[in-house]
Amino acid sequence: MGELQHSADTPNAPFAQRPIVILGAGIIGCATARQLLLNGFPVILVAEYLPGDQDYRYASAWAGAAWHPAGGISSEWRYLQAISHRHLLKMAQEEPESGVCIVDALEYVERPPSENSSAWGKTVAAKWRDLQPSEYPSGFSCGWSYETLVTDPTLHMPYLGKKITALGGQFIRKRVESLEDLYRMFPESSVFVNASGIGSKTLKDVQDEKCFAERGQNVFYKTDNCHTMYFRNGQEYTYVIPRPMSHGVVLGGVKQADDLSPEPDMEIARDEIARAHRLAPEVVPEHPSEDALSYIVGIRPSRQGGFRLDSEQQGSRIILSAYGFGGGGYAFSYGVADALGKMVEKAEQENVIQ
Ligand SMILES: Cc1cc2nc3c(=O)[nH]c(=O)nc-3n(C[C@H](O)[C@H](O)[C@H](O)COP(=O)(O)OP(=O)(O)OC[C@H]3O[C@@H](n4cnc5c(N)ncnc54)[C@H](O)[C@@H]3O)c2cc1C
Repeated sequence: MGELQHSADTPNAPFAQRPIVILGAGIIGCATARQLLLNGFPVILVAEYLPGDQDYRYASAWAGAAWHPAGGISSEWRYLQAISHRHLLKMAQEEPESGVCIVDALEYVERPPSENSSAWGKTVAAKWRDLQPSEYPSGFSCGWSYETLVTDPTLHMPYLGKKITALGGQFIRKRVESLEDLYRMFPESSVFVNASGIGSKTLKDVQDEKCFAERGQNVFYKTDNCHTMYFRNGQEYTYVIPRPMSHGVVLGGVKQADDLSPEPDMEIARDEIARAHRLAPEVVPEHPSEDALSYIVGIRPSRQGGFRLDSEQQGSRIILSAYGFGGGGYAFSYGVADALGKMVEKAEQENVIQ
């Protein structure tokens, strides 16, 4: 411990050889690694689950994953979503292997939108247009159409894993019990990023009681009619998210706090199909063929009050926390990575120029 403290307080490895260490290899850890590598930093990711894994507790493998402008968030958070949009758009245009696609979106809004509604998305999404009453189902207050981005996580996570390796990043598969375990593994490093998602609830020296598991379950319906996203905005939480490269649509959704059941609940699945059919009858039939259906279960890493994105100094170490993204990790991902890139620059500048 004494020795560890010594090396952390007086880092003796040269700047270029002190890796930035990221705990977690979900979309947040991986998007951050990519950004830091592009900025020239050496990066090591330590995680129990890595890109390509399919454990239901690894949220990033199971997301919808649509870019939707969240309502009720601060202007800073909107900007993070806007930056994500910019990165995702570029990938959709230039790197089809990333699994990111441009699709049309139809959003039907139950109640007259408040000042802080998701309508701010018109400043970011292309082709935003208010729908005429004849264009949205009866019973809704209004609606919007726009272009949005959907990410197929079955392609995107492996793509990102390869990208990180090609840029010189290193993955270490390991479960740790605390951040302290990481400090011991990398005594020469001074900047650590905690992107452990739901792991932050149990890591011994984090134990963030605001974190909670929020179970999600979706139905994947195989169809080539998969180029429009439908989103019901209001009390009922229903979406149809196209996944063009996998020839299907993701039907949802449901949020079950503190439920860790890995098996699909068929009653929920039937309800999701029925709701999706009501929302998008032109895409989802009332009784789709069982052969065309498969089921998705994933645990969202949620946090009361929203996610953490902050920096703490502990001795000469800087700990950057980025977890608790709940149902929006993809929509925030590359914006968060961009912000963390700047936070790492600042931390390293203070380490080098004393
Ligand atoms: C059904 C469903 C639908 C969704 N739809 C959308 C959507 O449409 N749009 C959207 O933006 N988001 C969506 N999400 C949310 C999105 O999936 C999450 O917000 C995002 O994946 C969280 O990423 P993360 O990197 O924080 O966490 P995770 O992907 O869970 O990754 C956490 C990482 O930390 C590692 N880790 C944790 N603890 C430890 C430890 N002790 N030791 C070592 N490693 C550890 C894990 O192994 C893993 O690598 C959806 C989620 C679900 C489940």
